[in-house]
Amino acid sequence: MTQKLGSFPGGLKLNGQKKRSTQVAIRKMPLSKKLILPLQQHIGEASIPIVSVGDKVLKGQKIAKAEGHVSVALHAPSSGTIIAIDEQPIPHPSGLSALCISIETDGEDQWIKRQPIKDFTEHTEHEIRQLIRDAGIVGLGGAGFPSFIKLNPGVHHHVETLIINGVECEPYITCDDMIMRERAEGILDGIEIMCYALHVKNCVIAIEDNKPEAISALELALGARPHLKETNVVVIPTRYPTGSEKQLIQVVTGKQVPTGGLPIDIGIVSHNVGTTYAIARSIKHGEPLISRIVTVTGREVEHAGNFETLFGTPMHELLEFCGTKRQPEEPFILGGPMMGYNLSGDHLPVTKTANCIIVGVDDGAKASTPLPCIRCGECATACPVSLLPQQLYWHSRAKDLDKAKEYNLFDCIECGCCSYVCPSEIPLVHYFRFAKTEIMNQQQEHAKADIARIRHENRLARLELEQQEKELRQQQRKAALAATQAAKVKQAAELPTEPQTTDSQETQ
Ligand code: SF4
Ligand code: SF4
Repeated sequence: MTQKLGSFPGGLKLNGQKKRSTQVAIRKMPLSKKLILPLQQHIGEASIPIVSVGDKVLKGQKIAKAEGHVSVALHAPSSGTIIAIDEQPIPHPSGLSALCISIETDGEDQWIKRQPIKDFTEHTEHEIRQLIRDAGIVGLGGAGFPSFIKLNPGVHHHVETLIINGVECEPYITCDDMIMRERAEGILDGIEIMCYALHVKNCVIAIEDNKPEAISALELALGARPHLKETNVVVIPTRYPTGSEKQLIQVVTGKQVPTGGLPIDIGIVSHNVGTTYAIARSIKHGEPLISRIVTVTGREVEHAGNFETLFGTPMHELLEFCGTKRQPEEPFILGGPMMGYNLSGDHLPVTKTANCIIVGVDDGAKASTPLPCIRCGECATACPVSLLPQQLYWHSRAKDLDKAKEYNLFDCIECGCCSYVCPSEIPLVHYFRFAKTEIMNQQQEHAKADIARIRHENRLARLELEQQEKELRQQQRKAALAATQAAKVKQAAELPTEPQTTDSQETQ
């Protein structure tokens, strides 16, 4: 469809490096003997285990329930036995460990009884959202935000447009491209469900013009569903970071999400294509989210491609399956080269947000020692949010966090464009992530200190009240005692005087 498109400032034309992983169809990663499932695979509160060590579980069985409002359930990706619920290393730049459920698979891969829904319109929108939550579905574009929340606009918002994000603008990553090429029907099923849940008819499937096969597949599938006449494929120019939510909205609609606001504030909701497909599987087939497509690519990968991988599969098995020439401790990138991060322990599990593993980036070598800033301004020109990365860098580096906030640090989407163009090869975005973490830690510390201060003040007030009550009781007791004594005195005074005996009476 030809549509007038908007634009955003800055951005980059990058070498896509996508051909290597799109030469063959999506393959299935073989079942691992052991699956390790972190309870925190999404933004929000971690799920709570509902199984114990020694329990037998079936494929798709719920093993952890959602806890709190921003949380989703977790399911067994295959049948087997729970062998541990303990801390395990997780794929995180900090190298942290976190609580995980480990399953020893039995090789049977036996499903629970699935409950597909033939006609989702027989359920209310609320029920559909709950089913999606219960299926453990989160944003598969990399963010991991629980999808059911983005399907609930609330009573104060009206959704005008649903945008399905098939942009995948970061180099090397091709899992969305491949899912659009191969599973277009499922994506349209997901769109129908989401349009129903959101009460919206107008839907845009946004795809960059470097994915002609995906564009054709979706247009073909749409042609066979005339009732989706308000759903259109919109082809947009390839430019990084168009796939970021706010930039995509700007390109597709020409509207800007206000600073500190959400897309829903301007009547827009967006979901990733992989998420859309997962929603269709959960509702139409009764399958919870237990796997995802992972791109494995890079110079050191012999059989690069896209692999349907069960969550919890150790990354080293996936890398071995793809024939990497990597040494055991050699770092690799999880995510893309712009927004991803380096990991070195490859016994880490594949999680819901693991969209891509790169071993050997062709063009990403950066100087190990950055040079001083030469104030060239290239970083500001490249920034898609119109920030001043050079100033942000100075303030973040000097730990002048208030100044960094004044320069809108929290509007930074961590796209890495500024670092990429910096001739001094300063890892700017690392400074911004560090400064954001520092500020959030400070805010948490302030919040803790406020809670402690309020508790202390409450305790003092309680002690003072207790003292006042004690004094009042003492006064009351004293008053009561005084009153009793006064009464006694009064009573004594009112008694008739006894007649005095006389000597004459005594002798009678
Ligand atoms: S691009 Fe690098 S060298 Fe140029 S102003 Fe920005 S931080 Fe300084
Ligand atoms: S990382 Fe932040 S400051 Fe740098 S270009 Fe992206 S949005 Fe701008």
